[in-house]
Amino acid sequence: MLDIESLISDFPILDRKVNGQRLVYLDNAATTQKPMPVLMASRHYYEAVNSNIHRGTHFLARLATDAYENARKTVARHLHVLDPREIIFTSGATDSINLVAQSLARSGKIGVGDEILISTLEHHANIVPWQMLCEQTGAILRVVPCAEDGTIDEVAFHQLLGKQTKVLALVWISNSFGVAHPIHRLTAEAKKSGALVLIDAAQAAPHMTMDVPAIGADFLVFSGHKVYANTGIGVLWGRADVLDSLPPWRGGGEMIKEVTFEKTTYNELPFKFEAGTPNIEGAISLAAAFDYLDELGMDEIRQHEANLLEIAAQSLTDSVPGIHLYGPAERTCALSFGIEGIHHYDLGTLIDQMGVAVRTGHHCCQPLMARFGITGTVRASFGIYNTEKDVDALTSSVHKAVSMLR
Ligand code: PLP
Repeated sequence: MLDIESLISDFPILDRKVNGQRLVYLDNAATTQKPMPVLMASRHYYEAVNSNIHRGTHFLARLATDAYENARKTVARHLHVLDPREIIFTSGATDSINLVAQSLARSGKIGVGDEILISTLEHHANIVPWQMLCEQTGAILRVVPCAEDGTIDEVAFHQLLGKQTKVLALVWISNSFGVAHPIHRLTAEAKKSGALVLIDAAQAAPHMTMDVPAIGADFLVFSGHKVYANTGIGVLWGRADVLDSLPPWRGGGEMIKEVTFEKTTYNELPFKFEAGTPNIEGAISLAAAFDYLDELGMDEIRQHEANLLEIAAQSLTDSVPGIHLYGPAERTCALSFGIEGIHHYDLGTLIDQMGVAVRTGHHCCQPLMARFGITGTVRASFGIYNTEKDVDALTSSVHKAVSMLR
């Protein structure tokens, strides 16, 4: 069991008052708050380590290089990945997906009439880079529909998957509705039919154990800022043989072996995909965040948050007439809802005045909103520091706001 009270004291920002009220932070799917060990790791880096990495002979350069490469090893360990060269540091999940899509576009592996398969639940970050790839290569984007409860239509998935499918790019957990895709099963099917598989784990990474090799995919991506680390750092995990077979996307320092004006040869993994000075401090903060989460235990975290989601779904249903919850009964991380006759933005604005931070709008999933004939939802998303008291604050603020707006 998590010791929530002591854990809360690790997050200085949670002491803040908002409009004179205790801050109830339920916007964790957008970004998470940072615990002291992460804040201290960043501070220590700039106070005692800061230097550029890899090519320096001096003391600080060696120290910074070790810290950065040790961060890579920590991330690999957290993902159960044996080979740290498979961990590419990027600026976030969006950057990681663009890297894969653009490397594929340059590789010549995708051509006219080939298909990229995604689902209706994707974040724009897992739609637009593939649309750009399609424009460049003549490939076609196919979309697996979802059922009324937001779960993927597996019959349609099987109909759409075929030899022409070159890439399956799937969100693990939907940031909008908290739906979990059965990614192990769908990955196995796609691999049987010869597709490359990319898993968008932006919303899975903060909430569950990620045994990446066990998924069987080729790529997995996530962002540091959603796992209690800094903004501007993210990860692309890729299978070494697949990454080796792809050309780099960005060119510049670090990613080269030798440069002449006539020809450049490229560096080995992971450096081939890390052009320029990386976010050294960000990588170190990500390692600190994973150390922190691993100490708490990912299974405990998942259980704690699942419990809160269940209580929140029940108490909102019981106390707010006209509420509609999106997604299936079993959700991960996020609870999205709409209330008859009330605009999500008005509701979000009113409950903010009561100290409750939620997100409203399309959550970067406009096609999903269009599928359900809505422009947006109110989304409460949970993190490790949330408590039943926060759920009570959510329910009573929504109840109050609705009576003011009706
Ligand atoms: N994928 C999912 C499921 C997300 O929820 C997000 C962010 O909300 C992203 C991708 C993009 O993450 P970032 O903006 O950190 O690159």
